[in-house]
Amino acid sequence: MASRQRVGRRSALPAAGSGRRGRGNQKTPGGLLAGERGTWRKKWTDRLPVALIFPNTYAVAASNLGWQLVYDLLNEHPAVVAERFVLAAAGDRPLSLESGRPLTDFALVCYSLSFEGDSLALLELLAAGGLTLEAAARDDDHPLVIGGGVGVWLNPEPLAPATDLFILGEAEVALPPVLQFLVEQWPRLGRRLLPRLAAAFSACYVPGLYHPSYDEQGRLLAMTVEGDAPTRVVPALLREPEVAGYSRLLSPQAEFSDLFLVELGRGCSRACRFCAAGFIYRPPRLWSPAAIRAALAHCPPEIQRVGLLGMEMAAPETLAAISGLIAERGKSLSFSSLRADALTPALLELLAASRIKTAVLAPDGASQRLRRIINKGLSEEAVLRAGEELAAIGVTTLKLYCMLGLPGEEDGDLLELVGMIRRLKGRLLALGRSRGRLTEIQLSVSSFVPKPWTPFQYHPFAGVAELSRRLKLLQGELAGEANVRISAEAPDKAYFQAVVARGDRRLGLALIAMAAGEKRGNWRRQLSELGIDPAWYASRPRAEGEIFPWEIVDPGLTARFLAAEYKRALAGKSGQGCRVGACKACGVCDG
Ligand code: SF4
Repeated sequence: MASRQRVGRRSALPAAGSGRRGRGNQKTPGGLLAGERGTWRKKWTDRLPVALIFPNTYAVAASNLGWQLVYDLLNEHPAVVAERFVLAAAGDRPLSLESGRPLTDFALVCYSLSFEGDSLALLELLAAGGLTLEAAARDDDHPLVIGGGVGVWLNPEPLAPATDLFILGEAEVALPPVLQFLVEQWPRLGRRLLPRLAAAFSACYVPGLYHPSYDEQGRLLAMTVEGDAPTRVVPALLREPEVAGYSRLLSPQAEFSDLFLVELGRGCSRACRFCAAGFIYRPPRLWSPAAIRAALAHCPPEIQRVGLLGMEMAAPETLAAISGLIAERGKSLSFSSLRADALTPALLELLAASRIKTAVLAPDGASQRLRRIINKGLSEEAVLRAGEELAAIGVTTLKLYCMLGLPGEEDGDLLELVGMIRRLKGRLLALGRSRGRLTEIQLSVSSFVPKPWTPFQYHPFAGVAELSRRLKLLQGELAGEANVRISAEAPDKAYFQAVVARGDRRLGLALIAMAAGEKRGNWRRQLSELGIDPAWYASRPRAEGEIFPWEIVDPGLTARFLAAEYKRALAGKSGQGCRVGACKACGVCDG
Protein backbone atom coordinates (compact mmCIF):
# COMPACT_ATOMS: atom_id res chain seq x y z
CA MET A 1 0.00 0.00 0.00
CA ALA A 2 1.23 3.47 -0.81
CA SER A 3 1.51 5.85 2.10
CA ARG A 4 -0.53 9.02 2.06
CA GLN A 5 0.42 12.57 2.64
CA ARG A 6 -1.40 15.42 4.25
CA VAL A 7 -0.75 18.66 2.46
CA GLY A 8 -0.11 20.89 5.48
CA ARG A 9 -1.44 24.11 6.94
CA ARG A 10 -1.56 27.55 5.45
CA SER A 11 -0.26 30.66 7.15
CA ALA A 12 1.20 34.03 6.12
CA LEU A 13 3.52 34.07 3.11
CA PRO A 14 7.20 34.48 3.96
CA ALA A 15 9.07 37.64 3.00
CA ALA A 16 10.49 37.86 -0.50
CA GLY A 17 14.13 37.02 -0.97
CA SER A 18 14.46 34.99 2.19
CA GLY A 19 15.75 31.97 0.31
CA ARG A 20 19.49 31.49 -0.09
CA ARG A 21 21.55 30.30 -3.01
CA GLY A 22 25.04 29.09 -2.72
CA ARG A 23 27.21 26.03 -3.02
CA GLY A 24 25.96 22.59 -2.09
CA ASN A 25 27.71 20.50 0.49
CA GLN A 26 28.35 16.84 1.23
CA LYS A 27 25.48 16.44 3.73
CA THR A 28 23.02 15.39 1.02
CA PRO A 29 21.99 12.02 -0.44
CA GLY A 30 25.13 10.45 -1.82
CA GLY A 31 27.02 13.73 -1.58
CA LEU A 32 25.58 14.62 -4.98
CA LEU A 33 25.59 18.30 -4.23
CA ALA A 34 29.29 18.42 -3.38
CA GLY A 35 30.73 21.38 -5.22
CA GLU A 36 27.40 22.28 -6.86
CA ARG A 37 26.88 25.94 -7.64
CA GLY A 38 23.33 27.27 -7.84
CA THR A 39 21.76 25.16 -5.06
CA TRP A 40 18.73 26.70 -3.35
CA ARG A 41 18.45 26.26 0.39
CA LYS A 42 15.19 27.58 1.80
CA LYS A 43 13.39 27.08 5.08
CA TRP A 44 10.16 25.11 4.83
CA THR A 45 8.15 27.11 7.33
CA ASP A 46 4.96 28.44 5.70
CA ARG A 47 6.11 27.69 2.18
CA LEU A 48 4.45 25.52 -0.43
CA PRO A 49 6.79 22.51 -0.73
CA VAL A 50 7.40 21.32 -4.29
CA ALA A 51 9.31 18.20 -5.32
CA LEU A 52 11.01 18.54 -8.71
CA ILE A 53 11.89 15.22 -10.33
CA PHE A 54 14.19 14.47 -13.24
CA PRO A 55 13.92 10.71 -13.88
CA ASN A 56 17.54 10.07 -14.77
CA THR A 57 20.91 10.24 -13.05
CA TYR A 58 22.12 13.39 -11.34
CA ALA A 59 24.82 13.80 -14.03
CA VAL A 60 22.18 13.99 -16.78
CA ALA A 61 19.68 16.03 -14.74
CA ALA A 62 22.22 18.63 -13.66
CA SER A 63 23.16 19.26 -17.30
CA ASN A 64 19.58 19.90 -18.42
CA LEU A 65 18.90 23.61 -18.87
CA GLY A 66 15.10 23.17 -18.76
CA TRP A 67 15.16 21.41 -15.39
CA GLN A 68 17.59 23.99 -14.02
CA LEU A 69 15.28 26.78 -15.17
CA VAL A 70 12.22 25.24 -13.51
CA TYR A 71 14.21 24.78 -10.28
CA ASP A 72 14.99 28.52 -10.33
CA LEU A 73 11.48 29.62 -11.35
CA LEU A 74 9.99 27.66 -8.46
CA ASN A 75 12.46 28.83 -5.85
CA GLU A 76 12.43 32.44 -7.01
CA HIS A 77 8.83 32.54 -5.74
CA PRO A 78 9.13 33.62 -2.10
CA ALA A 79 6.25 31.40 -0.99
CA VAL A 80 7.68 28.21 -2.50
CA VAL A 81 10.42 25.82 -1.50
CA ALA A 82 11.45 23.41 -4.26
CA GLU A 83 13.78 20.47 -3.76
CA ARG A 84 15.07 18.07 -6.40
CA PHE A 85 14.85 14.33 -6.88
CA VAL A 86 16.86 12.22 -9.31
CA LEU A 87 17.03 8.45 -9.71
CA ALA A 88 18.15 6.77 -6.51
CA ALA A 89 20.23 3.60 -6.38
CA ALA A 90 18.10 0.45 -6.82
CA GLY A 91 16.27 -0.36 -3.60
CA ASP A 92 16.89 3.06 -2.04
CA ARG A 93 14.00 5.30 -1.06
CA PRO A 94 14.17 8.49 -3.12
CA LEU A 95 15.05 11.51 -0.97
CA SER A 96 15.33 15.16 -1.92
CA LEU A 97 18.83 16.35 -2.74
CA GLU A 98 18.60 19.49 -0.61
CA SER A 99 17.21 18.24 2.71
CA GLY A 100 16.88 14.47 2.36
CA ARG A 101 13.08 14.54 2.70
CA PRO A 102 10.83 11.84 1.21
CA LEU A 103 8.50 12.54 -1.70
CA THR A 104 5.42 12.26 0.51
CA ASP A 105 6.43 15.41 2.42
CA PHE A 106 5.69 17.58 -0.63
CA ALA A 107 2.34 19.14 -1.55
CA LEU A 108 3.19 19.26 -5.26
CA VAL A 109 5.20 16.61 -7.08
CA CYS A 110 6.44 18.03 -10.39
CA TYR A 111 8.42 16.09 -12.94
CA SER A 112 10.27 17.10 -16.05
CA LEU A 113 10.45 14.49 -18.79
CA SER A 114 12.99 15.10 -21.54
CA PHE A 115 13.21 11.58 -22.97
CA GLU A 116 10.23 9.26 -23.41
CA GLY A 117 12.52 6.34 -22.53
CA ASP A 118 12.63 7.68 -18.94
CA SER A 119 8.85 7.28 -18.43
CA LEU A 120 9.09 3.91 -16.70
CA ALA A 121 11.95 5.13 -14.46
CA LEU A 122 9.79 8.10 -13.49
CA LEU A 123 6.89 5.87 -12.47
CA GLU A 124 9.25 3.60 -10.54
CA LEU A 125 10.61 6.62 -8.69
CA LEU A 126 7.08 7.79 -7.79
CA ALA A 127 6.21 4.27 -6.58
CA ALA A 128 9.43 3.97 -4.55
CA GLY A 129 8.61 7.39 -3.06
CA GLY A 130 5.30 6.07 -1.72
CA LEU A 131 2.87 7.63 -4.19
CA THR A 132 -0.21 5.92 -5.53
CA LEU A 133 0.54 5.85 -9.24
CA GLU A 134 -2.93 6.03 -10.74
CA ALA A 135 -4.23 9.60 -10.59
CA ALA A 136 -7.81 8.33 -10.48
CA ALA A 137 -7.03 6.44 -7.24
CA ARG A 138 -5.52 9.45 -5.48
CA ASP A 139 -7.55 11.80 -3.27
CA ASP A 140 -6.87 15.15 -1.63
CA ASP A 141 -4.57 13.57 0.96
CA HIS A 142 -2.12 12.97 -1.89
CA PRO A 143 0.09 15.56 -3.53
CA LEU A 144 -0.87 16.83 -6.96
CA VAL A 145 1.36 15.30 -9.63
CA ILE A 146 2.30 17.81 -12.34
CA GLY A 147 4.16 16.92 -15.55
CA GLY A 148 6.17 19.04 -17.95
CA GLY A 149 9.18 18.89 -20.23
CA VAL A 150 9.57 18.32 -23.95
CA GLY A 151 8.87 14.58 -23.56
CA VAL A 152 5.28 15.19 -22.44
CA TRP A 153 4.87 18.17 -24.73
CA LEU A 154 5.43 15.77 -27.65
CA ASN A 155 3.01 13.17 -26.30
CA PRO A 156 1.60 13.39 -22.77
CA GLU A 157 -0.71 10.37 -23.13
CA PRO A 158 1.49 7.51 -21.82
CA LEU A 159 1.87 9.41 -18.54
CA ALA A 160 -1.71 10.77 -18.49
CA PRO A 161 -3.05 8.01 -16.17
CA ALA A 162 -0.41 8.95 -13.54
CA THR A 163 -0.59 12.74 -13.86
CA ASP A 164 -3.12 15.23 -12.45
CA LEU A 165 -2.00 18.19 -14.52
CA PHE A 166 0.38 18.82 -17.40
CA ILE A 167 1.87 22.25 -17.99
CA LEU A 168 2.84 22.27 -21.66
CA GLY A 169 5.37 24.47 -23.40
CA GLU A 170 8.28 26.63 -22.36
CA ALA A 171 8.53 27.06 -18.60
CA GLU A 172 9.38 30.78 -18.59
CA VAL A 173 5.89 31.51 -19.93
CA ALA A 174 3.85 28.48 -18.90
CA LEU A 175 4.84 28.00 -15.26
CA PRO A 176 4.72 31.34 -13.34
CA PRO A 177 0.97 32.10 -13.65
CA VAL A 178 -0.01 28.54 -12.74
CA LEU A 179 2.40 28.55 -9.80
CA GLN A 180 0.96 31.84 -8.53
CA PHE A 181 -2.55 30.37 -8.70
CA LEU A 182 -1.46 27.29 -6.75
CA VAL A 183 0.37 29.36 -4.13
CA GLU A 184 -2.80 31.41 -3.57
CA GLN A 185 -4.84 28.25 -3.09
CA TRP A 186 -2.40 26.46 -0.81
CA PRO A 187 -2.98 24.50 1.43
CA ARG A 188 -6.32 23.74 -0.11
CA LEU A 189 -4.80 22.17 -3.21
CA GLY A 190 -7.59 19.73 -3.86
CA ARG A 191 -8.49 18.09 -7.12
CA ARG A 192 -11.50 20.45 -7.34
CA LEU A 193 -8.98 23.03 -8.65
CA LEU A 194 -8.15 20.98 -11.74
CA PRO A 195 -11.16 22.03 -13.88
CA ARG A 196 -10.43 25.67 -12.98
CA LEU A 197 -6.82 25.29 -14.05
CA ALA A 198 -7.86 23.67 -17.34
CA ALA A 199 -10.31 26.46 -18.10
CA ALA A 200 -8.13 29.38 -16.99
CA PHE A 201 -4.65 28.57 -18.33
CA SER A 202 -4.20 27.72 -21.99
CA ALA A 203 -1.06 25.61 -21.37
CA CYS A 204 -2.77 23.43 -18.72
CA TYR A 205 -3.90 19.96 -19.69
CA VAL A 206 -5.88 18.03 -17.09
CA PRO A 207 -6.02 14.49 -18.48
CA GLY A 208 -8.77 13.39 -16.06
CA LEU A 209 -11.19 15.69 -17.91
CA TYR A 210 -10.64 13.92 -21.25
CA HIS A 211 -12.02 10.49 -22.06
CA PRO A 212 -10.70 8.53 -25.05
CA SER A 213 -12.69 5.99 -27.04
CA TYR A 214 -11.18 3.50 -29.50
CA ASP A 215 -12.33 1.77 -32.68
CA GLU A 216 -12.43 -2.00 -33.15
CA GLN A 217 -8.81 -1.99 -34.36
CA GLY A 218 -7.66 -0.21 -31.22
CA ARG A 219 -7.06 3.16 -32.85
CA LEU A 220 -8.15 6.33 -31.13
CA LEU A 221 -11.66 7.28 -32.23
CA ALA A 222 -12.36 10.41 -30.19
CA MET A 223 -11.58 12.34 -27.01
CA THR A 224 -14.64 13.50 -25.09
CA VAL A 225 -13.99 16.63 -23.06
CA GLU A 226 -15.64 17.52 -19.74
CA GLY A 227 -16.83 20.99 -18.78
CA ASP A 228 -14.95 24.09 -19.91
CA ALA A 229 -11.66 22.35 -20.70
CA PRO A 230 -10.40 23.17 -24.22
CA THR A 231 -10.66 20.51 -26.93
CA ARG A 232 -6.92 20.85 -27.58
CA VAL A 233 -4.14 22.34 -25.46
CA VAL A 234 -1.79 24.97 -26.87
CA PRO A 235 1.77 24.87 -25.44
CA ALA A 236 3.11 28.23 -24.28
CA LEU A 237 6.05 29.63 -26.27
CA LEU A 238 8.60 32.22 -25.24
CA ARG A 239 8.83 35.07 -27.72
CA GLU A 240 11.67 37.37 -26.67
CA PRO A 241 13.63 36.77 -23.46
CA GLU A 242 15.59 39.48 -21.70
CA VAL A 243 18.17 36.88 -20.76
CA ALA A 244 18.90 33.89 -22.99
CA GLY A 245 18.93 30.43 -21.40
CA TYR A 246 22.16 29.55 -19.58
CA SER A 247 23.65 27.07 -17.10
CA ARG A 248 22.07 27.94 -13.79
CA LEU A 249 23.58 24.94 -12.03
CA LEU A 250 27.21 23.98 -12.31
CA SER A 251 28.54 20.82 -10.77
CA PRO A 252 31.69 18.74 -11.01
CA GLN A 253 29.37 15.74 -11.18
CA ALA A 254 27.27 16.94 -14.11
CA GLU A 255 27.77 15.57 -17.63
CA PHE A 256 29.08 18.96 -18.76
CA SER A 257 31.00 19.61 -15.59
CA ASP A 258 33.28 22.42 -16.70
CA LEU A 259 31.09 23.92 -19.39
CA PHE A 260 28.87 27.01 -19.21
CA LEU A 261 26.03 26.61 -21.73
CA VAL A 262 24.29 29.53 -23.44
CA GLU A 263 21.30 29.31 -25.77
CA LEU A 264 21.49 31.30 -28.98
CA GLY A 265 17.85 30.57 -29.67
CA ARG A 266 15.27 27.79 -29.66
CA GLY A 267 14.20 25.47 -32.42
CA CYS A 268 15.95 25.07 -35.73
CA SER A 269 15.17 26.40 -39.17
CA ARG A 270 16.67 23.43 -41.05
CA ALA A 271 13.60 21.14 -40.86
CA CYS A 272 15.35 17.75 -40.65
CA ARG A 273 12.39 15.40 -40.88
CA PHE A 274 13.44 13.03 -38.07
CA CYS A 275 14.04 15.74 -35.48
CA ALA A 276 11.15 16.39 -33.09
CA ALA A 277 12.81 19.50 -31.64
CA GLY A 278 12.87 21.06 -35.11
CA PHE A 279 9.06 20.83 -35.29
CA ILE A 280 7.80 21.20 -31.73
CA TYR A 281 9.83 24.37 -31.05
CA ARG A 282 8.48 26.13 -34.17
CA PRO A 283 8.76 28.87 -35.12
CA PRO A 284 12.54 28.88 -34.71
CA ARG A 285 13.63 31.85 -32.65
CA LEU A 286 17.03 33.46 -32.44
CA TRP A 287 17.64 35.47 -29.29
CA SER A 288 18.84 39.07 -29.43
CA PRO A 289 22.55 39.86 -28.93
CA ALA A 290 21.57 41.73 -25.74
CA ALA A 291 19.83 38.62 -24.32
CA ILE A 292 22.86 36.47 -25.16
CA ARG A 293 25.23 39.01 -23.61
CA ALA A 294 23.06 39.06 -20.47
CA ALA A 295 23.29 35.25 -20.25
CA LEU A 296 27.08 35.29 -20.72
CA ALA A 297 27.37 37.74 -17.83
CA HIS A 298 26.32 34.88 -15.51
CA CYS A 299 29.37 32.77 -16.40
CA PRO A 300 31.49 32.37 -13.25
CA PRO A 301 35.10 33.56 -13.62
CA GLU A 302 36.57 30.13 -12.91
CA ILE A 303 34.65 28.41 -15.75
CA GLN A 304 36.82 28.58 -18.85
CA ARG A 305 34.69 26.92 -21.53
CA VAL A 306 31.45 28.24 -23.01
CA GLY A 307 29.15 25.97 -25.05
CA LEU A 308 26.74 27.55 -27.54
CA LEU A 309 23.38 25.87 -28.17
CA GLY A 310 21.37 26.54 -31.34
CA MET A 311 24.36 27.44 -33.50
CA GLU A 312 22.73 26.00 -36.60
CA MET A 313 20.49 29.04 -36.87
CA ALA A 314 23.00 31.77 -36.14
CA ALA A 315 24.37 33.76 -39.07
CA PRO A 316 28.19 33.61 -39.37
CA GLU A 317 28.51 37.31 -38.43
CA THR A 318 26.36 36.80 -35.28
CA LEU A 319 28.49 33.82 -34.34
CA ALA A 320 31.66 35.80 -34.93
CA ALA A 321 30.38 38.66 -32.71
CA ILE A 322 29.43 36.28 -29.88
CA SER A 323 32.69 34.42 -30.19
CA GLY A 324 34.58 37.71 -29.99
CA LEU A 325 32.74 38.52 -26.79
CA ILE A 326 33.66 35.14 -25.31
CA ALA A 327 37.30 35.58 -26.32
CA GLU A 328 37.34 39.08 -24.73
CA ARG A 329 36.37 37.45 -21.45
CA GLY A 330 39.31 35.07 -21.78
CA LYS A 331 37.14 31.98 -22.33
CA SER A 332 37.26 29.30 -24.98
CA LEU A 333 34.41 27.88 -27.01
CA SER A 334 32.96 24.41 -27.08
CA PHE A 335 30.44 22.96 -29.57
CA SER A 336 28.04 20.06 -29.25
CA SER A 337 27.90 19.33 -32.96
CA LEU A 338 29.00 21.26 -36.04
CA ARG A 339 27.20 21.66 -39.37
CA ALA A 340 29.66 20.10 -41.81
CA ASP A 341 28.58 22.54 -44.54
CA ALA A 342 28.83 25.65 -42.36
CA LEU A 343 32.50 25.68 -41.38
CA THR A 344 33.55 29.16 -42.43
CA PRO A 345 37.21 30.27 -42.21
CA ALA A 346 36.25 32.52 -39.27
CA LEU A 347 34.62 29.63 -37.38
CA LEU A 348 37.62 27.38 -38.05
CA GLU A 349 39.91 30.09 -36.72
CA LEU A 350 37.80 30.28 -33.61
CA LEU A 351 37.83 26.52 -33.14
CA ALA A 352 41.60 26.52 -33.54
CA ALA A 353 41.94 29.32 -30.97
CA SER A 354 39.74 27.29 -28.60
CA ARG A 355 42.15 24.34 -29.02
CA ILE A 356 39.32 21.92 -29.74
CA LYS A 357 40.56 18.32 -29.82
CA THR A 358 37.24 16.51 -30.33
CA ALA A 359 34.64 17.55 -32.89
CA VAL A 360 31.27 16.07 -33.77
CA LEU A 361 29.72 15.96 -37.23
CA ALA A 362 26.23 14.51 -37.68
CA PRO A 363 25.57 13.15 -41.18
CA ASP A 364 22.64 11.28 -39.49
CA GLY A 365 21.79 9.35 -42.67
CA ALA A 366 24.15 6.67 -44.02
CA SER A 367 23.99 7.78 -47.66
CA GLN A 368 23.39 10.93 -49.65
CA ARG A 369 20.02 9.51 -50.77
CA LEU A 370 18.97 8.97 -47.13
CA ARG A 371 20.16 12.42 -46.18
CA ARG A 372 17.81 13.79 -48.82
CA ILE A 373 14.95 11.67 -47.42
CA ILE A 374 15.53 13.02 -43.92
CA ASN A 375 16.08 16.51 -45.35
CA LYS A 376 19.57 16.77 -43.89
CA GLY A 377 20.87 18.12 -47.17
CA LEU A 378 24.49 17.22 -46.53
CA SER A 379 26.75 15.93 -49.30
CA GLU A 380 29.50 13.39 -48.73
CA GLU A 381 32.03 15.89 -50.02
CA ALA A 382 30.92 18.38 -47.34
CA VAL A 383 31.54 15.76 -44.62
CA LEU A 384 34.95 14.80 -46.05
CA ARG A 385 36.05 18.42 -46.41
CA ALA A 386 34.84 19.32 -42.90
CA GLY A 387 36.76 16.32 -41.50
CA GLU A 388 39.94 17.46 -43.22
CA GLU A 389 39.51 21.06 -42.11
CA LEU A 390 38.94 20.02 -38.51
CA ALA A 391 41.95 17.69 -38.54
CA ALA A 392 44.02 20.52 -40.01
CA ILE A 393 43.28 22.79 -37.01
CA GLY A 394 44.32 20.07 -34.55
CA VAL A 395 41.21 17.94 -33.94
CA THR A 396 42.44 14.46 -32.97
CA THR A 397 39.06 12.75 -32.49
CA LEU A 398 36.36 13.15 -35.07
CA LYS A 399 32.97 11.77 -34.05
CA LEU A 400 30.33 10.98 -36.65
CA TYR A 401 26.70 10.46 -35.59
CA CYS A 402 24.52 8.26 -37.76
CA MET A 403 21.13 6.56 -37.44
CA LEU A 404 20.09 3.10 -38.59
CA GLY A 405 16.56 2.21 -39.62
CA LEU A 406 15.65 5.47 -41.38
CA PRO A 407 12.75 5.40 -43.86
CA GLY A 408 13.86 3.88 -47.17
CA GLU A 409 17.17 2.55 -45.81
CA GLU A 410 18.76 -0.39 -47.63
CA ASP A 411 22.01 -2.32 -47.22
CA GLY A 412 23.50 -0.29 -50.08
CA ASP A 413 23.14 2.86 -47.97
CA LEU A 414 25.16 1.27 -45.18
CA LEU A 415 27.86 0.27 -47.64
CA GLU A 416 27.96 3.86 -48.85
CA LEU A 417 28.58 4.93 -45.24
CA VAL A 418 31.42 2.40 -44.96
CA GLY A 419 32.85 3.80 -48.19
CA MET A 420 32.58 7.37 -46.89
CA ILE A 421 34.39 6.44 -43.68
CA ARG A 422 37.19 4.77 -45.66
CA ARG A 423 37.50 7.80 -47.91
CA LEU A 424 37.53 10.10 -44.89
CA LYS A 425 40.14 7.93 -43.20
CA GLY A 426 42.27 8.09 -46.36
CA ARG A 427 42.19 11.89 -46.41
CA LEU A 428 42.87 12.14 -42.66
CA LEU A 429 45.79 9.71 -42.97
CA ALA A 430 47.40 11.74 -45.71
CA LEU A 431 47.02 14.87 -43.61
CA GLY A 432 48.13 13.13 -40.40
CA ARG A 433 51.31 11.77 -42.00
CA SER A 434 52.31 15.19 -43.22
CA ARG A 435 51.73 16.69 -39.75
CA GLY A 436 52.86 13.72 -37.63
CA ARG A 437 49.51 13.47 -35.83
CA LEU A 438 46.62 11.14 -36.74
CA THR A 439 42.94 11.89 -36.25
CA GLU A 440 40.79 9.00 -35.06
CA ILE A 441 37.27 8.48 -36.45
CA GLN A 442 34.59 7.42 -33.98
CA LEU A 443 31.31 6.34 -35.55
CA SER A 444 28.42 6.51 -33.11
CA VAL A 445 25.33 4.62 -34.30
CA SER A 446 21.83 4.87 -32.87
CA SER A 447 18.50 3.43 -33.98
CA PHE A 448 15.96 5.73 -35.54
CA VAL A 449 12.82 6.22 -33.41
CA PRO A 450 9.85 7.79 -35.25
CA LYS A 451 8.54 10.71 -33.18
CA PRO A 452 5.19 12.45 -32.89
CA TRP A 453 4.84 15.82 -34.60
CA THR A 454 7.38 14.94 -37.30
CA PRO A 455 6.66 13.78 -40.86
CA PHE A 456 7.90 10.35 -39.75
CA GLN A 457 5.12 9.99 -37.16
CA TYR A 458 3.45 7.76 -39.76
CA HIS A 459 6.48 5.51 -40.25
CA PRO A 460 7.07 2.09 -38.62
CA PHE A 461 10.06 1.49 -36.34
CA ALA A 462 12.44 -0.90 -38.14
CA GLY A 463 12.38 -3.61 -35.42
CA VAL A 464 15.10 -5.04 -33.19
CA ALA A 465 16.01 -8.05 -35.39
CA GLU A 466 16.42 -5.94 -38.53
CA LEU A 467 18.33 -3.18 -36.75
CA SER A 468 20.66 -5.75 -35.16
CA ARG A 469 21.32 -7.27 -38.58
CA ARG A 470 22.14 -3.89 -40.11
CA LEU A 471 24.36 -3.03 -37.16
CA LYS A 472 26.25 -6.32 -37.54
CA LEU A 473 26.72 -5.62 -41.22
CA LEU A 474 28.23 -2.23 -40.42
CA GLN A 475 30.41 -3.61 -37.63
CA GLY A 476 31.59 -6.46 -39.88
CA GLU A 477 32.54 -4.08 -42.69
CA LEU A 478 34.48 -1.79 -40.37
CA ALA A 479 36.04 -4.52 -38.21
CA GLY A 480 39.81 -4.29 -38.16
CA GLU A 481 39.79 -0.86 -39.81
CA ALA A 482 42.67 0.86 -38.04
CA ASN A 483 41.92 4.26 -36.56
CA VAL A 484 38.16 3.78 -36.83
CA ARG A 485 36.02 2.93 -33.80
CA ILE A 486 32.32 2.16 -33.80
CA SER A 487 29.92 2.34 -30.87
CA ALA A 488 26.20 1.62 -30.91
CA GLU A 489 23.14 1.94 -28.72
CA ALA A 490 21.26 -1.35 -28.18
CA PRO A 491 18.28 -1.52 -30.61
CA ASP A 492 16.12 -2.96 -27.80
CA LYS A 493 16.43 0.32 -25.90
CA ALA A 494 15.30 2.22 -28.99
CA TYR A 495 12.37 -0.21 -29.35
CA PHE A 496 11.11 0.72 -25.89
CA GLN A 497 11.42 4.41 -26.79
CA ALA A 498 9.54 3.76 -30.03
CA VAL A 499 6.68 2.13 -28.11
CA VAL A 500 6.35 4.94 -25.58
CA ALA A 501 6.91 7.77 -28.09
CA ARG A 502 3.62 7.03 -29.88
CA GLY A 503 1.86 5.45 -26.90
CA ASP A 504 -1.53 6.11 -25.38
CA ARG A 505 -3.26 5.80 -22.03
CA ARG A 506 -3.69 2.02 -22.32
CA LEU A 507 0.07 1.73 -22.58
CA GLY A 508 0.34 4.18 -19.66
CA LEU A 509 -1.73 1.90 -17.42
CA ALA A 510 0.54 -1.01 -18.33
CA LEU A 511 3.63 1.09 -17.47
CA ILE A 512 2.02 1.83 -14.09
CA ALA A 513 1.53 -1.90 -13.45
CA MET A 514 5.16 -2.54 -14.45
CA ALA A 515 6.45 0.24 -12.18
CA ALA A 516 4.37 -1.13 -9.31
CA GLY A 517 6.21 -4.45 -9.76
CA GLU A 518 3.16 -6.48 -10.73
CA LYS A 519 4.99 -8.43 -13.46
CA ARG A 520 8.40 -10.03 -13.90
CA GLY A 521 10.70 -10.54 -16.89
CA ASN A 522 11.94 -8.16 -19.56
CA TRP A 523 9.80 -5.19 -20.59
CA ARG A 524 8.46 -6.88 -23.72
CA ARG A 525 7.25 -9.89 -21.76
CA GLN A 526 5.71 -7.72 -19.06
CA LEU A 527 3.83 -5.63 -21.61
CA SER A 528 2.51 -8.67 -23.42
CA GLU A 529 1.32 -10.21 -20.11
CA LEU A 530 -0.54 -6.95 -19.54
CA GLY A 531 -2.28 -7.29 -22.89
CA ILE A 532 -0.15 -4.74 -24.75
CA ASP A 533 1.47 -5.60 -28.08
CA PRO A 534 4.56 -3.36 -28.33
CA ALA A 535 4.78 -3.89 -32.10
CA TRP A 536 1.30 -2.39 -32.54
CA TYR A 537 2.60 0.85 -31.06
CA ALA A 538 6.08 0.88 -32.61
CA SER A 539 6.00 -0.92 -35.95
CA ARG A 540 2.49 -0.43 -37.34
CA PRO A 541 2.31 1.89 -40.38
CA ARG A 542 -0.09 4.75 -39.66
CA ALA A 543 -2.34 6.17 -42.32
CA GLU A 544 -2.96 9.82 -43.08
CA GLY A 545 -6.18 10.83 -41.34
CA GLU A 546 -5.72 8.59 -38.28
CA ILE A 547 -6.40 10.47 -35.04
CA PHE A 548 -3.29 10.28 -32.88
CA PRO A 549 -3.29 10.37 -29.06
CA TRP A 550 -0.72 13.19 -29.06
CA GLU A 551 -3.06 15.43 -31.06
CA ILE A 552 -4.60 16.50 -27.77
CA VAL A 553 -1.68 18.96 -27.92
CA ASP A 554 -1.90 21.69 -30.55
CA PRO A 555 1.54 23.07 -31.42
CA GLY A 556 0.08 24.66 -34.58
CA LEU A 557 1.46 22.08 -37.04
CA THR A 558 -1.16 20.77 -39.44
CA ALA A 559 -1.57 17.04 -40.08
CA ARG A 560 -1.87 17.88 -43.77
CA PHE A 561 1.61 19.43 -43.81
CA LEU A 562 3.19 16.53 -41.91
CA ALA A 563 1.55 13.92 -44.18
CA ALA A 564 2.64 15.81 -47.30
CA GLU A 565 6.20 16.05 -45.99
CA TYR A 566 6.17 12.29 -45.30
CA LYS A 567 5.10 11.60 -48.89
CA ARG A 568 7.81 13.91 -50.21
CA ALA A 569 10.37 12.10 -48.06
CA LEU A 570 9.37 8.67 -49.37
CA ALA A 571 9.59 10.05 -52.89
CA GLY A 572 13.19 11.11 -52.15
CA LYS A 573 12.36 14.80 -52.36
CA SER A 574 13.96 17.27 -50.02
CA GLY A 575 11.89 19.81 -48.11
CA GLN A 576 12.22 23.46 -47.30
CA GLY A 577 13.58 24.99 -44.12
CA CYS A 578 11.75 27.69 -42.17
CA ARG A 579 11.56 31.19 -43.61
CA VAL A 580 9.95 33.00 -40.70
CA GLY A 581 7.88 35.94 -41.88
CA ALA A 582 7.72 34.63 -45.43
CA CYS A 583 5.90 31.34 -45.15
CA LYS A 584 2.80 29.63 -43.81
CA ALA A 585 3.82 26.12 -44.83
CA CYS A 586 3.40 24.12 -41.62
CA GLY A 587 0.61 26.10 -40.00
CA VAL A 588 2.60 27.55 -37.08
CA CYS A 589 3.21 31.08 -38.39
CA ASP A 590 0.62 33.54 -39.58
CA GLY A 591 2.95 34.32 -42.51
S1 SF4 B 1 5.10 28.46 -41.08
FE1 SF4 B 1 7.04 28.36 -42.25
S2 SF4 B 1 8.50 29.65 -41.12
FE2 SF4 B 1 6.73 29.27 -39.74
S3 SF4 B 1 7.37 27.50 -38.54
FE3 SF4 B 1 6.21 26.69 -40.29
S4 SF4 B 1 7.76 26.25 -41.90
FE4 SF4 B 1 8.74 27.56 -40.31
